[in-house]
Amino acid sequence: MRPPYLLLDIDGVLIPFPDAAGSAPATHARHDVVSTGRSAANPVTVWLNPDHGRLLMDVIRTGLVTPVWCTSWRQDATTLIGPLLDLPALPHVDLPRPQITTSHPNGYLWKRDHVDAWLGDAPAVWIDDDFTSLDHAWAAERTAKGTPTLLVQPAPHLGLQPEHLTEVTTWVAQLPVARVA
Ligand SMILES: [Mg+2]
Repeated sequence: MRPPYLLLDIDGVLIPFPDAAGSAPATHARHDVVSTGRSAANPVTVWLNPDHGRLLMDVIRTGLVTPVWCTSWRQDATTLIGPLLDLPALPHVDLPRPQITTSHPNGYLWKRDHVDAWLGDAPAVWIDDDFTSLDHAWAAERTAKGTPTLLVQPAPHLGLQPEHLTEVTTWVAQLPVARVA
C-alpha cells in the first residue's frame, strides 16, 4: 500500500477562529497576507503558531505520508501560509469556489466530493475542523472497503494540537505500508 495522503486544512486548523472576544491563542503570531484577489492595501490578518511548522515537518520527514493542502486558500496555502511556517512548497487539492453559504450544503463538508474524486482509492488522513457525522461515516465506509481513511478534527477555536499529529503518526505506523528501502 502506498503512503497515505495527509490532507491539511488551514482555517480552524492552522489559523484558529477568534474566540468570542476576538482573540487568538497566545501561541499564535499575527501576520498580514495579501491573498489572491486582494490588493496590498487590503491584506488578510492571520494568526499562526510557529511550532506548527516544526510539528508538521516532524511528520512529513518520516516519509510515511504525502502532505497536500486541502483548503479554500488553494494555491495561496503554498505561496503565502506555508512559508510563514517554514514549510516546503506542498501541492494543493485544486478545490472549486462554490457559491455556498454554509460549509455543509448537503449535510457534509463541501470539499468532500472533490477530495473523494481526487483521492480515488488512495488512503488518506485528513485534518479539518469542519467534518460532520456524514463525513465520519464516509471515512468509515472507505476504511471498511479497504482504503484506510482517518479524519482528525481539531476544535476550530483552538486549532491543531500536538496530540492530533501524534494521532496521525500512530495511525500511519499501523498501516501495511510498503516500505521502500
Ligand atoms: Mg477549516
